[in-house]
Amino acid sequence: MNPTSVSLRVAVVCLAMVLTSLTRAQSAPVLTPFPDDPACTADDRRFMKRAFELARLGLSRGDGAIGAVLVKDGRILCEFANTTRTDSDPTMHGETGLISYASHVLEKSLWAGSTLYTSLEPCIMCTGSIRWAGIKTVVYGGSTRTPDGQAWGPERLRCHEVYARYGWDMVVRGPLMDDEQLKIRAEQAALRAAGKL
Ligand SMILES: [Zn+2]
Repeated sequence: MNPTSVSLRVAVVCLAMVLTSLTRAQSAPVLTPFPDDPACTADDRRFMKRAFELARLGLSRGDGAIGAVLVKDGRILCEFANTTRTDSDPTMHGETGLISYASHVLEKSLWAGSTLYTSLEPCIMCTGSIRWAGIKTVVYGGSTRTPDGQAWGPERLRCHEVYARYGWDMVVRGPLMDDEQLKIRAEQAALRAAGKL
């Protein structure tokens, strides 16, 4: 094969890749927010707003875009934004980071009766950690989705299902303000596309 033929083939492949990526970009699905869980209250919404502010703080410094707030009797006891990149520690999700931090600064007696707000439905690590911390109520913002933004199918365990399967007596409310989570998801994608993440 002569060099001209090789470079022509490379050019054709590159053009095909560009066209494929353009097609993908054009056909990116418009994601519809999941409706709010009707069990959520006005107070839940108030604290969830704070969790989303913290999520944006995490995103602004290149960490995961997840924030968590621990609340008791209408008062914020502790809050945390994901620091997995800042601390180079994969366990520092919003929820586990909050639990770890709060363990050093809060009396354990305060944890009973508290509610943990998290901007995104807890992952499997955080789901377990919340229960082991003795927190009984979890309110989450955005629902977990597949990488392309679709709803999780029945083959994947959700946070509330893990608690039910273990027989743990927990209260889970959510989604709440899933539209806000979709906005953050879009901001995150834009930063990635610009090479800033
Ligand atoms: Zn997590």
